[in-house]
Amino acid sequence: MNLYRLIYSSHANPDLGLADLKNIMESSIKNNQTDGITGLLCHADGMFLQVLEGYQDKVNQTYHRIVQDSRHHTPMLISCEPITTRAFEIWSMQAIRLTDLNKEQVKTLTLRHSGSAIFQPNRMNPRQALAFMKDIGILFQVSDDIILDL
Ligand code: FAD
Repeated sequence: MNLYRLIYSSHANPDLGLADLKNIMESSIKNNQTDGITGLLCHADGMFLQVLEGYQDKVNQTYHRIVQDSRHHTPMLISCEPITTRAFEIWSMQAIRLTDLNKEQVKTLTLRHSGSAIFQPNRMNPRQALAFMKDIGILFQVSDDIILDL
């Protein structure tokens, strides 16, 4: 069975609140641990960017379940490709609200990886989206001033 990495963006529903994000994280950690899925979920400015890594069938099932979720809409598949090693193996899923990180550092990363200071993941190409998520994961790990650790 092959390992795959899938990246997509979506628009959060306007009424999405903190309780919804916590609920999503609870379900994600529970299900992803069982399914051997790892990854990262970024949320900012009404948008999500998520990476899912795992065996092909599990990534596929998880993605199809997620896109039917009424808490977001207009999912856009950015990439889905075979991989040899996971890049986000330390998290069965970790939600990061970009507003909880250092504003200037997030802006620098957004500019570096998308050419825009605004977080618009639906405009990122596969290379940009992966590099952005890797750097956000590193920034999250070294940040000791996280307002809310979801
Ligand atoms: P449970 O965990 O038992 O559901 C718990 C509660 O969540 C329900 O009682 C209900 O209140 C609420 N809920 C469940 N589904 C929905 C829904 N479709 N709409 C509104 N409320 C709902 N799931 C994963 O397994 N892995 C992921 O990585 C993952 N990432 C997500 C990323 C995003 C941006 C979003 C929006 C959702 C994500 N989810 C993820 C959640 C996924 O869409 C399903 O809701 C979840 O997998 C259902 O799990 P479950 O059947 O075990 O439900």
